[in-house]
Amino acid sequence: MKNIKDYNIDDLKKELEALGEKPFRAEQIFKWLYIDKVKSFDEMTNISLELRKTLKENYDICNFKIAKKLESVDGTKKYLFELSDGNAIESVLMEYHFGKTVCVSSQVGCKMGCKFCASTGIPFERSLSSGEIVEQIIAIEQDTQSKISNVVFMGIGEPFDNYDNVLNAIKILNNPKGLNIGARHISISTSGIVPKIYALADENVQCTLSISLHSSNNETRSSMMPINNAYNIQELIKACKYYIQKTNKRISFEYALAKDNNDNLKDAEDLVKLLKGMLCHVNLIPINKIENGKYTKSSLENIIKFRDYLNDNGITATIRRELGSDINAACGQLRRTNLKISKN
Ligand code: SF4
Repeated sequence: MKNIKDYNIDDLKKELEALGEKPFRAEQIFKWLYIDKVKSFDEMTNISLELRKTLKENYDICNFKIAKKLESVDGTKKYLFELSDGNAIESVLMEYHFGKTVCVSSQVGCKMGCKFCASTGIPFERSLSSGEIVEQIIAIEQDTQSKISNVVFMGIGEPFDNYDNVLNAIKILNNPKGLNIGARHISISTSGIVPKIYALADENVQCTLSISLHSSNNETRSSMMPINNAYNIQELIKACKYYIQKTNKRISFEYALAKDNNDNLKDAEDLVKLLKGMLCHVNLIPINKIENGKYTKSSLENIIKFRDYLNDNGITATIRRELGSDINAACGQLRRTNLKISKN
């Protein structure tokens, strides 16, 4: 059955027209789904009984079940959602001074194999549909009775390996008559799928682009992220420069510091050389230690030195606040221990 939350407003209008209905019905349905957040077509009381019946016969509303919820002392909440096919995905709610941010998953598992990620080593199942991406935000808004202001695509999955569905989900999230989350409040993080960076640059979507960089030399980056063997740092930076020139938007580079791997002063110097003159920001992340992972966190003293070196040399850098460390908030960690909930 088709998921009604997979449709952006224009496509939903077309669906309804194909059913012989007036396009304004799409706006009514959108309001029920994204403002009233109803869980069944029966609750859409301004829709005729006949149309409700047709909708029920042809579409699913996609309500996620919370399989597990962990709450950190700092307020971070981590959800494990059960999908209709028995798969499980994670989403994290983080509280910042500027509002509530949800970190969403874009796939069930990930093919990228980054060595520092908890999603690595467990099988990739499939990509999420647009509606399944959007439902993560709706389910969290329902659970917390609050409004989400920001969305980051930094959960399980490579968003650019599910490009069309991610972009369509952004259209649904953007709709002012629905969830109304502006593109400027949405950030996509990629491990570096270069052709999609060019594609996004040409798309004219106002979201923020984040690149998992983690090293400025190809040998170290390839040892951390196999994607670097397909698109090396030089190709990646060239694509980033194109993106900046085309959109005039600042790129955020993620750099997870691992002890004795990419965290010494020489690494900081190389990073400055690589990014010099670019409209960018570096987000330094104390690497999360995962089960069987080979990396350990750099010391705070070292992370501060690294940050200061970048800032003193013209590259704006900040250290990401660690949220939810007591509940293992790094992506993939909850799913890793709860694969296929209902199929067990
Ligand atoms: S860090 Fe992101 S891209 Fe890399 S394996 Fe994990 S989920 Fe995939």
